[in-house]
Order: sequence, then C-alpha cells, then structure tokens
Amino acid sequence: MLQKKGIFAIVGLVLVFAVVHLALPPEQHGPRTTGTVMLGGIAFLLMTSSIILSTRLEVFEDWFGGLDRMYQVHRVAGVFAALTALVHFFGVPKELPEGVDPVANAIFPSGPLGMLGLIFLVIGLFIALNRKIRYSRWRPTHKVMGLVYFLIIGHFMTAPGIFFERFSASGIILIIAAAVGLVALFYSVFGMNKRTALPFEIEAVNALERATEVVLKPVGKMLDFKPGQFAFVEVEGKGWNETHPFTISSAPGEDKLRFTMKVLGDWTRKVREELQPGGKVQVRGPYGRFDASHAGKKQIWLAGGIGLTPFLSKLRSMAKGDDRQIHLVYAAREEQDAIFLEELKDRAAELGNVTIVPLFSDEGNFARVDMMKVKLPDPLGTYDYFMCGPKPMVDGIMKDLRSEGVSRSQIHTEAFEFR
Ligand SMILES: Cc1cc2nc3c(=O)[nH]c(=O)nc-3n(C[C@H](O)[C@H](O)[C@H](O)COP(=O)(O)OP(=O)(O)OC[C@H]3O[C@@H](n4cnc5c(N)ncnc54)[C@H](O)[C@@H]3O)c2cc1C
Repeated sequence: MLQKKGIFAIVGLVLVFAVVHLALPPEQHGPRTTGTVMLGGIAFLLMTSSIILSTRLEVFEDWFGGLDRMYQVHRVAGVFAALTALVHFFGVPKELPEGVDPVANAIFPSGPLGMLGLIFLVIGLFIALNRKIRYSRWRPTHKVMGLVYFLIIGHFMTAPGIFFERFSASGIILIIAAAVGLVALFYSVFGMNKRTALPFEIEAVNALERATEVVLKPVGKMLDFKPGQFAFVEVEGKGWNETHPFTISSAPGEDKLRFTMKVLGDWTRKVREELQPGGKVQVRGPYGRFDASHAGKKQIWLAGGIGLTPFLSKLRSMAKGDDRQIHLVYAAREEQDAIFLEELKDRAAELGNVTIVPLFSDEGNFARVDMMKVKLPDPLGTYDYFMCGPKPMVDGIMKDLRSEGVSRSQIHTEAFEFR
C-alpha cells in the first residue's frame, strides 16, 4: 500500500519552497516574474524528488510503501515537473528586464539551456509514458532525463539576477536540492547496482507450464530477504545485458534462492531456452514491502497466475502454529497452469490455518467479491487483503472491495510492473 509519509515529504518541500519564495522575494521582482520563477523552482524540486526516488534506497521504500510505489510516484512527479516547467516557460517574461546586461546574458546562456532542457524533458516524458515502446528500448532512452537535469541546473544557475537570485532564501533551497539531486543521480547511475549485487551460480533450470523455475546457489553471502520481496536478476555473459525484477519464490532460510519466471517476452523465453546450470548470475536486492506478517489475523491472499510467487514464499516460510487464518485464492486460466498447486495443498494440510481456493477461468470461475461475501465465514470488512496478479483483476477486486466498505488500509497490492 502507498504510504503517505513520502508524499507528504515531497508536498511539504514544494510548499516550504513556495512560501519562502513568496514571503522573501528579491525586491526588484515583479509579481509575474516572482510567480513564474516559483513555478520553475517547483518543477525543479519535483524533478529532484523523481531522481531521488530512482536511487531505490531502503529508507524511501519505507516512506512510500515499496519500490513499485516509489516508481509510481517517480513517474507522477516527473509528469508534474514537465507540466509545471511548461507553464513556467510560457509565463516567464521573454524580454530582458531593465538592469540586465545583454552581453553578460549572452555569455551565460540561461535561455537556450532552459529551452533545450524543456525540449528533452517533454520528449523524455513522451517516451516514459509511451507503453508501446518495449521495456528494453525504453530503459536506455529514459536515462536521457539525467542530461535534462544538468541542463536545468545550468539554466537556473546562469539566469540573469533579476529572474533568479541565487542567494535569496528560495534560491538557496534550489541550490541545496541541486546538490542532493546530483549526488542521487550519480549514485543511481554508478553506485546503486554495485551496492546490492550478490553473485550466484545456477544450480537448476526447471521447465514448468508456461514458466521456468531458476534455482540459484550463493557463491558467497546468501541474500537476506523477507517472504514476498523481490530482486533484480542479471545473467552474466554475452547477450544477457538486461536486469529483470522477480519475486523470490523460495523461503528465507533455505540455502538456495528460487525464482519462478513466466515466459512472457524475449528475456524470459531466453531464460527457458538457453539458461544452463553452472552459469553465473548477479542478484540485486531485496526490495519490496508486500509483507503480510504485521496485518490482521484474518487474511485473504489473491493470486492471479504468476502473481502466486510472493505467496509461495510466504507459505514456504510459514511456521506451524501460525495464528493467522488465511484463505489463498489462486486464479489461473486452467488447472495445468496452476503451477505448484499440489505443493500448496500439501502445505495447507500440514499447516492447518490455510485454505487453498483454486479458480480456473476456463471452467467459468473467477475471483469475485460477491462470491467471497457469500463463502467467507466472516464479513468482508474483517479481513486484510493481499493481491498480486494482472492489473485488471487487481483493480476490479479493489474497486468491489471498496464499494463493499473495505477500508483502503486493509488492501495491499504488489504490482509486477514499474511503468
Ligand atoms: C516487483 C516485480 C516482481 C515481479 N515478479 C515476477 C515473478 O515472480 N515472476 C514473473 O514471472 N514475473 C515477475 N515480474 C515480471 C517480470 O519482471 C517480467 O515479466 C519480465 O521482466 C518480462 O521480461 P521479458 O523481456 O521476457 O518480457 P517483455 O515482453 O519484454 O516485458 C513484459 C513486461 O515486463 C516488464 N519488464 C520487461 N523488462 C523489464 C525490466 N528489465 N525491468 C522491469 N520490468 C520489465 C514491462 O512492464 C513489460 O511490459 C515481476 C515484476 C516486478 C516489477
């Protein structure tokens, strides 16, 4: 669930900047310049927030409720930054104000830098929001945003004094933000991946129905994770130059790490067809806050297809005597698609507190809130809900639960996409 702490931090930063800017404007500014410069500053702070969120730092996972939520806010902050920058661009007076030396202004090219930054920002935004562009092509082009950040810093640091007072109170906020943003940018490009990477060796590649289970043994240190967390997997070797996120389907404490990967596109197909035992893999993580251990005692787990993986890890790690009452609804297209169903049933029988409810859409059975209302022993509002599966399924159930009066704080979801 999206935690509000991070959102409050971003909104608070923007408000503090706006209040300081309006309360202590440099004397020579007219109201139009004050207003449009403020919008430019807000755009820059939103961009900085967006960059900070791309560092994947653990503290921000706590503030926002997981990495998938951080990327959602990263995207929204980017969109608002571009929109605010556009209003700033069209609003700011184009003629040089009295008192600004045109020669000095020509030497310090604030205008062209800002214009270039804005063009790249809008192109970058178009690319970022275009879901038709394949992820593997999208990711490198998205990195152009780093360049935009440099251009925007150049833009406001070389703006004529009449537009932007670098050492006014609000100017100092922007300079501090720029310093933090640059550190975050360098860290996310050069440091982030190295910090969390652990080497593994492939022990087995098991073909399942439309999915592949990859079993890894640690070369050195084992990854320390909680059930439901995910990691980025990078296979070493020629032609494997992409990193993909997967939920860890094994239990913490096992001496192997297991990932269950649905065959979806080029990379997951290559995993199934070409990955061999003995190969080397880098695993980066763990990430995610899809944690059911601190929720209420009555829980509904809803897994759609490969969305089973976080629940698999949770069930594999659950100790006998767990005092929660759990109903795992496992929705799949047909019975043979429901991988690990036998293991789940055995595990449920062993544990005693878990009920498995398989639903197959080819038999006309779908996960539906009206059915849950009839079949569950207690009212819907007394449960906590954990959902992972296709977006239409998750959104539909979420909407129906909300209209049945289930509070948003009782519904927890894990998105299998960052865009
Ligand atoms: C937090 C999280 C946990 C996930 N856990 C699992 C899991 O346990 N099992 C499983 O089968 N799948 C899981 N996925 C989805 C998995 O990452 C994609 O299915 C896989 O990366 C597809 O790669 P592809 O090239 O084969 O397919 P493509 O057809 O290229 O991609 C299909 C979709 O996967 C996403 N995707 C592709 N490449 C990447 C990438 N490098 N990084 C992020 N997203 C990407 C994009 O949204 C894309 O539209 C998870 C995703 C996320 C974000």
